[in-house]
Amino acid sequence: MDLNKITKEVMLTREELAEKTRELGAAITRDYEGKDVLLVCVLNGAVMFMSDLMKEIHLPVEIDFMAVSSYGNSTKSSGVVKIIKDLDKSVEGKHILIVEDIIDSGLTLHYLIDNLKSRGPASVEICTLLDKPSGRKADVHTKYKGFDIKDEFVVGYGLDYAEKYRNVPYIFVLKEEVYS
Ligand code: 5GP
Ligand code: MG
Ligand code: MG
Repeated sequence: MDLNKITKEVMLTREELAEKTRELGAAITRDYEGKDVLLVCVLNGAVMFMSDLMKEIHLPVEIDFMAVSSYGNSTKSSGVVKIIKDLDKSVEGKHILIVEDIIDSGLTLHYLIDNLKSRGPASVEICTLLDKPSGRKADVHTKYKGFDIKDEFVVGYGLDYAEKYRNVPYIFVLKEEVYS
């Protein structure tokens, strides 16, 4: 895979991602001291962010994973959210922190928050690495956010295009010709 040939722009480098992840981890450590925290990773996109972020949270947190579908192989949200894999554990009384790769329309997280709140947790908040505010269709409060980015389809650091490029350790924009 020759990344140079398909890269339009490197948006966030490994160093920028590492620094931001440390900041977010420190803030979460401060805010959740003494609480029962459950980190919920939204598969597959948030997997790399989750694994880096949790190392920067210095609390005895629990982790769990959920998979939802909303996109298929397209680059815009369908608005239809389906749970592909549910949590394995009960969330009752726990402080849930949803760990997401990116919010665009907000439709996925809006659904997920309502769904998790109905299960009796102590609280539900979001930690998203990326946010595209211009794409918003549903209102969601993001307690923790890494970066606001412009309305461009990004890949790498867990984010895919047609299931590829998740393993690239930084975030970049693909050239248009890759989509056609
Ligand atoms: P939303 O429901 O907020 O529109 O979209 C949420 C999901 O769509 C994200 O968790 C992510 O999986 C996918 N998504 C949104 N924008 C992008 C993007 O720029 N690149 C990639 N790879 N996925 C995106
Ligand atoms: Mg996601
Ligand atoms: Mg995807």
